[in-house]
Amino acid sequence: MKLENKLAFITGGGRGIGRAIAIAFAREGAAVAVTARTRVQVEAVAKEVADQFGVDSLALECDVRNTGWVNDAFALALTHFGRGPDILVNNAGIAESELFIKSDELMWERHLNTNLGGTFRCTHAALPEMVERGWGRIINIASIAGKTGAPYVSAYAASKHGVLGLTRSLALEVAAQGITVNAICPGYVDTEMTSRGVENIVAKTGKSAEDALTTLKKMSPQNRLVTAEEVAALALLLASEEGRGINGQAINVDGGTVLF
Ligand code: NDP
Repeated sequence: MKLENKLAFITGGGRGIGRAIAIAFAREGAAVAVTARTRVQVEAVAKEVADQFGVDSLALECDVRNTGWVNDAFALALTHFGRGPDILVNNAGIAESELFIKSDELMWERHLNTNLGGTFRCTHAALPEMVERGWGRIINIASIAGKTGAPYVSAYAASKHGVLGLTRSLALEVAAQGITVNAICPGYVDTEMTSRGVENIVAKTGKSAEDALTTLKKMSPQNRLVTAEEVAALALLLASEEGRGINGQAINVDGGTVLF
């Protein structure tokens, strides 16, 4: 098993991509701490992986926008598992769309504080023990919106561009200490986040839900949404020993939408 004796701390693990990563890691023997704001969802995922794969798991309610909550979650994980995480997956994120001219500072702050600030806070909490141990994996779930712009998503794209800047810089700082830092950049994934995007298009344009979904699918040359399991498969490679040579990268899982 690829992740035996490893502990993974996964933010936004209650559903979607984070849940798929928790399952993929647990299947390979990792113990997992699953965190998000919705307690019932993280409890369900923690139970699911424990029941299915017999691994140790812990559900933690945590809002990554708040340093106190983040530090408390890491402290609770330390108490439960007796050690800090070997693998950190910064996956918690939000995505809202609005014309820049209509968006306000609160929307801007929500995105920067969750998508980028959350990644900063959790990385800051996890890194010291990885350095001490001389082994670590930090996997940031960014987006192709971290590489290219698109209308209506300036706050989201700015936050994800920031995640790539953090990923690349930190990767170089810790490269000689057995730690890799990488980002995954998915295109549209078949999760609730995309369903909410479809609802938003319907509300704003009057298109049918089917037409809105078709529009999103057509953004990929493969004319489909990516699955959460496809993103998790790459996360598993980055988390594993075989992935140790991959560092500071931002790898797209988007069917070829963005070619850099
Ligand atoms: P979902 O909305 O399905 O899941 C998002 C997860 O993040 C939930 O568990 C949510 O839980 C958690 N979360 C949101 N805000 C916070 C917060 N403040 N503190 C802690 N947890 C939080 O989305 P996806 O699974 O699709 O997205 C996961 C990641 O992938 C995000 O970073 C997203 O930007 C990225 N991504 C998604 C794409 C897509 O098309 N779906 C494309 C590219 C990137 P809760 O609300 O309970 O806190």
